This record gives sequence, C-alpha cells and structure tokens, in this order.
Amino acid sequence: MVNEITANIFDIQRFCLFDGDGIRTTVFFKGCPLRCAWCCNPESQSFTPQLLIKPWDGCADCRRCIDKCERGVLSLKDGRIVADEEKCGHCAECESLCAFDKIKVAGKKYTVDDVMEIILKDKDYYEDSNGGVTLSGGEVTAHADFVLALIDRLEKENISVMIETCGYADKDSFAKIAARVKRVYFDIKLIDSAQHEKYTGKGNELILENLKQASALTETVVRVPLIPDVNMNAEFYRALGELAEALPVKGVELLPYHRLGVSKYAELGKDYTLSDLRPAPRAENEKALAEIKKYTSKPVGFRQ
Ligand code: SF4
Ligand code: SF4
Repeated sequence: MVNEITANIFDIQRFCLFDGDGIRTTVFFKGCPLRCAWCCNPESQSFTPQLLIKPWDGCADCRRCIDKCERGVLSLKDGRIVADEEKCGHCAECESLCAFDKIKVAGKKYTVDDVMEIILKDKDYYEDSNGGVTLSGGEVTAHADFVLALIDRLEKENISVMIETCGYADKDSFAKIAARVKRVYFDIKLIDSAQHEKYTGKGNELILENLKQASALTETVVRVPLIPDVNMNAEFYRALGELAEALPVKGVELLPYHRLGVSKYAELGKDYTLSDLRPAPRAENEKALAEIKKYTSKPVGFRQ
C-alpha cells in the first residue's frame, strides 16, 4: 500500500476575504516553530491534535462527554470538565456529542485529496473574483512535502496560491514553496534578534534570510503585528521601514494587537503571559504607521 502523505490541519475556512485577493479558502496547518507570546491561535502551535475545553459556565452538566469517551479521558473536577489528554485519541466523539460547543478537538489528519475536495467546492468563486487559496498556520512551510504536493494539484486546477508564513523555515524548503506561490505574506515581529528570541522563542537571523529569499522569488508583503510594550517604539519603526525600503517587497501591512484569542489559552490549560496587555489606542497605531512611512517609499497600511 502506498503511504499517503498527510498533515494535521486545524481549520479550513471558506469564503475568506482578508488573506489575499478575491474570495479565498484558507487552510490552517497545525504546528509552528515559534511561540509568540501574543499568538491569537495558540491551538496552532503544537504539531499534534489538542483538546480545547471551555469553562464550565453554560455547560448543561449532561455528562455525555464523560460517559461516552471510551478512553476515560474526561472527568469533572472543581466544577469543570478536565481531560487527561495523554490518553486522548482525538477522535472528536465528545465534540460531536456536546450540544453546547464546550469541547473542541483542534487538529485532524488530512490527505491532499481531502483538502482538495473542500477547496474545489468553491472553484467558480475563485475564478469569478480573482481569488484562490491561502495556506496559513501555524507555519505552512513546516509541512513542506504536503504543501508542495498540494500546490501541484492546485496548479493543475489553475487555482492561485498564496501563503502566510512566520519565515522560520529550512531555507531550501522555504525557497521551493515561495517560488511557486503568487504572493507571500511574511510576518516580521521584531528586528533585534535577542528581543525576537525573548518574545517568540527563536532569534530572527533565519527569518530575515528567508524574507530576502521570498522577496527575490515572488511578490512579498511584510505583515507586522503591532504589540504594545514589545515593538511599538521608534527604534523598531525605523528598522522596519529601512528593511522594507532595502528589499523588493510590495509593501507593509500592520495588524494592531487584539485580545480575541486570549480565552483559548485557558481552554488549552495554558497561561497567557501577556495577560495585562491591552490594545493600543487608535492614535498610537496611527502614529506607528506614520513613523514607519518616514523610512520607506513602499505602501504602508493597516490590514484591510
Ligand atoms: S457534553 Fe457538553 S454540556 Fe454535556 S457535560 Fe460535556 S461539556 Fe457539558
Ligand atoms: S476526543 Fe475522543 S478520546 Fe479524546 S476525550 Fe473526546 S471522546 Fe475521548
């Protein structure tokens, strides 16, 4: 039997309008080499499937999830459902049984055929809107073999492909993927490598090399999360503007900090280390944009 290539994917969203041109399907691969302290999709970080359990409020106390789990993973402790996740097979039986959406399994193995079946449902929309498919994560380039096989199939269907990447990837794999996509949305969080390591777990030398590669190989847009107390300062604005000016990137998109993913940390049983951080006032985000523009002639704007 042929060993079919698979990847863990935690979401496939149809009819996306913010991850590139036109109407798109965005595929979210599970697993990332970075651990950004502000990550709004913490379920994207681990390469393996995970249980997310919402706090007890609103739970009907029906205990169906506990009773039906054949592995005895779930139990009630201090008024909430808890999991012994090491025993979990991530079959998602509990997710399908819970009428109150209290339990979710993030991450499921897909083959390329599985993903194509979903993507092809909207092929007419891609054609009519100049849209296509965006591969995101987690870190898409950490699944290079699967992604290259998927790109083969998308090319055969004439469907345009873009990627969103943190850029921390083996240089050869990264180049192979970047060379075959229409656009790369490339995250830059910090320019100083020691600061980068402090907030993401890794230095950024490899990331900056891959940004250079990406911009030489295809259209590249730099995406920057604006994080108060982390990168919202004059030194970073200058370094970022100068970087954008020095490379053949198309422009810079800014993403102001928000707290939409914070509740997921508790659902995963993790701490959110930036719990005191609050979004910057609009004027501060506008100031960041104006400052960065001083150092580059490339378009700089907020992500639409
Ligand atoms: S199935 Fe849902 S509502 Fe019922 S006990 Fe489990 S979490 Fe609560
Ligand atoms: S995903 Fe399956 S094995 Fe894991 S807790 Fe739910 S029912 Fe049990």
